[in-house]
Amino acid sequence: MSKDACGEDRLGHHNKSGFDMDAVWRHVIVLSNFTDRLAGTENIEKASNYIVNYLEKIGGVRAWIDRFYFLTSYPEYSYFEILEPESKIVNSFPNLFSENTPPEGVTGDLIYVGSGDEESYRGIDAAGKLVLAELSYSPPRTEKARIASINNAKALIIMNWGRRESRTVGRGAIKGVWGPPTPEDMERIPRIISLNISRYDGEYIRRLLSHRRVKARIKVKVENKWVCSSQPMCRIYSACSQPMDELIIVGGHLEAWGGTVTDNSAGNAVMLEMVKVLAENRSKILRSLVFGFWDGHEIGEAAGSAWFVDNYWVELNEGGVAYVNVDACGLAGASRFVSYSSPETWAFLEEVEKEVIGKPSEKRLPLKFGDNSFLGIGIPYIFTFATFTEEELKKSGEAVFGWWYHSEEDTIDKLDREMLGIQAKLYLEYVLRLACEAVVPFDFTQFTRLVKTDIAQIREAFSKEWTEPYLSRIEARVNELEILIYEVNKIARECKNSRENTLTKSVNKLLLTLSRILIPAFRSTVDKYSHDVYGNIFLAKPLPRVYKILASLTKTSREDWTWHALKVSLTRQFNMLIDALINASFICRTFLNRI
Ligand SMILES: [Zn+2]
Repeated sequence: MSKDACGEDRLGHHNKSGFDMDAVWRHVIVLSNFTDRLAGTENIEKASNYIVNYLEKIGGVRAWIDRFYFLTSYPEYSYFEILEPESKIVNSFPNLFSENTPPEGVTGDLIYVGSGDEESYRGIDAAGKLVLAELSYSPPRTEKARIASINNAKALIIMNWGRRESRTVGRGAIKGVWGPPTPEDMERIPRIISLNISRYDGEYIRRLLSHRRVKARIKVKVENKWVCSSQPMCRIYSACSQPMDELIIVGGHLEAWGGTVTDNSAGNAVMLEMVKVLAENRSKILRSLVFGFWDGHEIGEAAGSAWFVDNYWVELNEGGVAYVNVDACGLAGASRFVSYSSPETWAFLEEVEKEVIGKPSEKRLPLKFGDNSFLGIGIPYIFTFATFTEEELKKSGEAVFGWWYHSEEDTIDKLDREMLGIQAKLYLEYVLRLACEAVVPFDFTQFTRLVKTDIAQIREAFSKEWTEPYLSRIEARVNELEILIYEVNKIARECKNSRENTLTKSVNKLLLTLSRILIPAFRSTVDKYSHDVYGNIFLAKPLPRVYKILASLTKTSREDWTWHALKVSLTRQFNMLIDALINASFICRTFLNRI
């Protein structure tokens, strides 16, 4: 058996012992009794109490409930009636943070805008119209609302995903700004009337629209207010003789819509048993762990995890190694593992995945969803889940989290016990290795490779006049950094089994600092103390913070004075990227010179 850095028996790969799937299942049954456990409700309080009571009984675990205020929204009613060419009342549910209508409602002509991204509005006059968009993550609901509102649409109607005959009405919110809002954020919440309808009714309207003008009336009422959270947390301290001053964060949202089984009672249940296994092995883990059962998930837009980052900022900045997101576990019928994770973690994840699931997951860049409040501060993000084949997704209107997502249909029959077990093992193994390996197992050469790909894509897409000499400077700096990282990696490999020497500690400090410098600059578009908006589409683009401005430049006339202002912003954002690379190289060089 392999030895860990404490010289004790390491926890076995695949974790053959310890993970109690019967207990996981029991937690799911209990937690899914607390349906629609939305912020500020009795049900979330009951679920929180269940979680904290369970955690408090585990030896070596400190559990508590974080209480803080955040902005959320509650549904009062919605009404949707087709007036022409025929009369029909359509089942609906308000999108939370919708604008309220006058009591008599608003009327207008309907138009269909497909995914509802910026392209969908090209050549269409949406002003004063009721726009119908499909639900998908491209772009997410909040971006559809923002884009509809800047196109002056009167209302946004979101047709659920799922099969064409599905009458399930989804639920969601359009707040967009991430976390508890600042006064500036309050101004950026999309102002538009919005509701949800089923895919069945959406397809019916599309059929009507194919040959007639369709007129409808909409009424929506929601109530927005600041509520106090109920956010269970726990901490497991290493009981190893020489613990490291570092921290791994594991989180999953507790606030949940509808039946809650797969989203996210299953994830919460997996986390509870992970805590148990980790606490039982406190003498073998080298780093502390914090588990967060986030409140304010989809309505407050990751209010719980954002509050956690804002309020534990200094400690996270100093010692945060990684954030592992536990969500969408055990979806029945799922077969494809997809991972939205920071590139520097990919090689590490693949090693674990090959052992647990037999092959690597499909890797994607981390985006602004799934409680990823960690991009600004610069802590690597890990979120792997199993979804459906491309063919199945096409049939279900891209229902990546299942057609039952955010509805009362999210019941126990949607949970596959075997898949849940595999995902639970995968999360546990990720976290065990992160907690037990002496050297933080991240490789920044994957990061630099992606920056080089980004440079090539920007060159392809935009005029040299706007991108040079900056891109060449970034390229030179990234090549320089890559060489230094190769040298750092050699030393990291040598330190793999030697926790006791100060060199290992220096390697880890260096890797954590690289995360803090590179992630906010290259994978976020805001400063390191702030949060990008939910689903920010630019995070999927090359060099997001400059792409965002380049995209605006292409749409702005040179005669327009904002064209020059955009050029000023562009220069500053390029400077930020170059500066980040210079700083990263500087700390690598200093480290290499010292040893
Ligand atoms: Zn979820």
